[in-house]
Amino acid sequence: MNFDDIVTFHGHACPGLAMGYRASILAIRELTLDHSRDEEVVAVVENKSCAVDAIQMMTGCTFGKGNLIFKDYGKQVYTFMKRPGGEAVRVAVTWSPPQGKKEAVMWKRYMADDRSQNVLEAVKILKAAKRKAILAAKEGELFTFKKMVIPLPAKARIYPSINCSACNEKVMEPKAVIINNSVYCKPCAAQ
Ligand SMILES: [Zn+2]
Ligand SMILES: [Zn+2]
Repeated sequence: MNFDDIVTFHGHACPGLAMGYRASILAIRELTLDHSRDEEVVAVVENKSCAVDAIQMMTGCTFGKGNLIFKDYGKQVYTFMKRPGGEAVRVAVTWSPPQGKKEAVMWKRYMADDRSQNVLEAVKILKAAKRKAILAAKEGELFTFKKMVIPLPAKARIYPSINCSACNEKVMEPKAVIINNSVYCKPCAAQ
């Protein structure tokens, strides 16, 4: 698996993807991981950015298999765990891109939804430079990491489905909401 394979899956080459790729390489080395055929590796990701696509490809941890766990913390932190021992490595991104004054101005305009041609061009160049810098950086410039042993989350369970009283669609039992003795799915319960 190389970076180009991941770009094919993700759809474009970007800084986030490069970061996820580098974080995965670190984890694979530190935990001596094989590509997860089943569920022997679990990844906990604290954001849902481009980086997570690289992690899925590199480690085989996917939402579908239940060994990719999303925590909505908005942090660039990735924790990889290995069954059965619970050997783990927590990787935190510490890198900040070097940025000149002109770039900073363009980036600010982009973040403020400016989509004019010169801003888009500048951002494209900036992103490409960022991606290259991440791929070439020393690991210590990108991350801090900590090894530990942590209890592993239970293997993905299969739950019975029940029908929502409002939309009649099936909902996994532990996700259903009970209101006045009737069972609802979350979207219906919120209405
Ligand atoms: Zn991306
Ligand atoms: Zn419903």
